[in-house]
Amino acid sequence: MSNVAKSITDIKSIKRLLIANRGEIACRVIRTCKKLGIESVAVFSDADRHAQHVQQADLAVYIGASSAKESYLNAQSIMDAALKIKADAIHPGYGFLSESTELITLCQSNDVIFIGPSVESIADMGSKIEAKAIAQSLDIPTVPGYNGDNQDSATLKSESEKVGYPLLIKASAGGGGKGMRIVNSASEFDEALTLAKQESLSSFGDDRVLLEKYLVRPRHIEVQVLGDSHGNVVHLFDRECSIQRNYQKVIEEAPVSHLGDELRQKLFDCAVRLGKHLSYLGAGTIEFIVDADTQDAYFLEMNTRLQVEHPTTEFVTGIDLVECQIKVAKGEALTFSQDQITVTGHAIEARLNAEDPANNYMPETGTIELYREPTGEGLRVDSGVSQGSDISPFYDSMVAKVIAYGVTRGLAAQRLLKGLNDFSIGGFKTNQEFLIALITRPAFHQELTTQYIAKQFPEGWQPWGEEMHMAIAAAAYAEQGQYDVSNMQAGNPWQRKGSWRVTDLSGTPASAWFCIEHGGELIEMSVQGRAGDYRVRIGSDLDEKNAEQFHVMLTRPNESQSEVTYWQVEINNTRVSLDILFSENQKVSLSSPRLNRSYSFVTLEDSLLGPAAELKDNSTSIRAVMPGIVTDVLVKTGDKVEEGETLLVMEAMKLIHNLSAPCSGVVKDILCAAGDSVADGALLIDIDPDETDD
Ligand code: ADP
Ligand code: ADP
Ligand code: MG
Repeated sequence: MSNVAKSITDIKSIKRLLIANRGEIACRVIRTCKKLGIESVAVFSDADRHAQHVQQADLAVYIGASSAKESYLNAQSIMDAALKIKADAIHPGYGFLSESTELITLCQSNDVIFIGPSVESIADMGSKIEAKAIAQSLDIPTVPGYNGDNQDSATLKSESEKVGYPLLIKASAGGGGKGMRIVNSASEFDEALTLAKQESLSSFGDDRVLLEKYLVRPRHIEVQVLGDSHGNVVHLFDRECSIQRNYQKVIEEAPVSHLGDELRQKLFDCAVRLGKHLSYLGAGTIEFIVDADTQDAYFLEMNTRLQVEHPTTEFVTGIDLVECQIKVAKGEALTFSQDQITVTGHAIEARLNAEDPANNYMPETGTIELYREPTGEGLRVDSGVSQGSDISPFYDSMVAKVIAYGVTRGLAAQRLLKGLNDFSIGGFKTNQEFLIALITRPAFHQELTTQYIAKQFPEGWQPWGEEMHMAIAAAAYAEQGQYDVSNMQAGNPWQRKGSWRVTDLSGTPASAWFCIEHGGELIEMSVQGRAGDYRVRIGSDLDEKNAEQFHVMLTRPNESQSEVTYWQVEINNTRVSLDILFSENQKVSLSSPRLNRSYSFVTLEDSLLGPAAELKDNSTSIRAVMPGIVTDVLVKTGDKVEEGETLLVMEAMKLIHNLSAPCSGVVKDILCAAGDSVADGALLIDIDPDETDD
């Protein structure tokens, strides 16, 4: 009895918890506080007075000016707030003060519980030099390189020769992908070292560096661990975070696909060994890089906090990591043992940022004018914003995380795609379409390395141009024509008798040509294919090789399943879901929460009678109405001609066209001859009109 009594009194109580953070992670911690019946306290800067985390918390305390240094990075100000409001504990979230020894030290001296590991764990793992040395002492493989204390330039230079090139100079105190420099050859080393040391000193207040062999094709694989104050350290399996830009994660998933059992187990063992060595308390992550070619794995670093990508692990293990953090900080033991933790299914997370991926990922700021989060089975959105929220320049650009779960990786990816498609956010640019492009590349199901983005978008990513949308509309127009066989009227490009239709050997319609009206112009297109699989060419270039070509595959929504209302469209290997609507007046509309476009279709014949024909009013010349070959010129210079008289025959798109005089007069000039290939709109015959014609 006395033992039980003792252990109960050892458990501290947390009734009121202050969250020393902002944005989505503050909101995330508030959710678990609500679940555990704990009062949550938000802190805020000037810029965040109306922020979501302030509105969602039970209480909120102002901590300083907008710049992070004066508020979220100001440990004393946060401690003052905690004391003022009598908070029992502080949760640091990630970033800001989460890995700072200053806030824990203040917590200790003011008897406030810090929800995180000990000051020693943070100090040991906060320095990459130190952390690597500890890993080495535990026989955990580390990336070959130099992590010695001797930091003079001559030593570093001679060590660099041993490491070989390419190598990476890393700031020992670095983090968040900052403070890293690739050196490709010995001649670049001295300058790179000087710059790396300067950068490191100004960003982290510490100019110590380490040298590492630069792996050319690595995967980033990490292991989640949890420890309590009773000596238990368990792992919660692995995550893959190889899709990175600038050494920062963009897409993360749990568990890792394509990892040998033996290697996976080895990573778990290493992670738990390090955790036990540190008597680790709370949630932590041990990061590794794995050479994709050799399968050699190396320890990178340990992050002594909750990570951005923790929801993927929560999905597959069913464990609330924030709840565990709070409980072990109170002194409770973990309620599960290693063999009670299992992984079911697969989860993938995408980080939605306010940035312009087409413009070197420049951060964007502004007010969120439109905001609607997607919902659906297996979908979780962690965010800290709502309609009307401001994205200020003071903090990082992550707006929300979309996390999808499925029993298979394929289903998780499918749901993530739907979630990203259904996310409505407007007011500034985001990386939404870039994320969609990332997860819809075939390589997403074949090979992930940290070079993924560079390899998939060697010239940088660009959003879909108008032409991509036109190509989808054209394919849909053709698809609808074939699908709706009862439709014998004008709107059906395949059924309609017109000069633009060609049949293949089996007599099935195979190609169609028509114009899309866009911005007051008529743009010619050709569509080839059938049954959901089309090649679309845009433009009037007769030389097909020069015309821009799109491969469009369409799957119409299954009408018996009312939930699925979107067409699945794959264009040049990128997949999207869209609403496609056809209206009577030959209009095709594409819409999704992020997109709204309508195109009017005109057959080539109609285009001659429609707006294009207007151009020919009052004309005194004959121009090519489409690209083609002049087969016959029926007049010569000086001939008298009557309006409507056929002067020239052209063959275009496998059909014969008779071109007639637009007015009566005398042939002034003939600018072509039989056999010539002429471009659309080319001047063919010029007529000197009769005076009386005016
Ligand atoms: P940070 O503290 O900034 O997170 P890490 O050491 O964890 O720094 O490295 C961040 C990322 O940089 C890794 O996920 C990986 O993509 C890349 N990286 C780090 N070390 C190497 C290396 N030796 N070779 C190749 N890539 C590396
Ligand atoms: P499955 O039959 O379930 O597709 P696989 O072992 O081929 O089995 O793939 C498991 C999952 O991992 C699939 O969703 C696949 O797309 C994905 N995948 C395949 N290769 C890789 C890779 N190199 N890196 C990451 N994921 C991969
Ligand atoms: Mg890291």
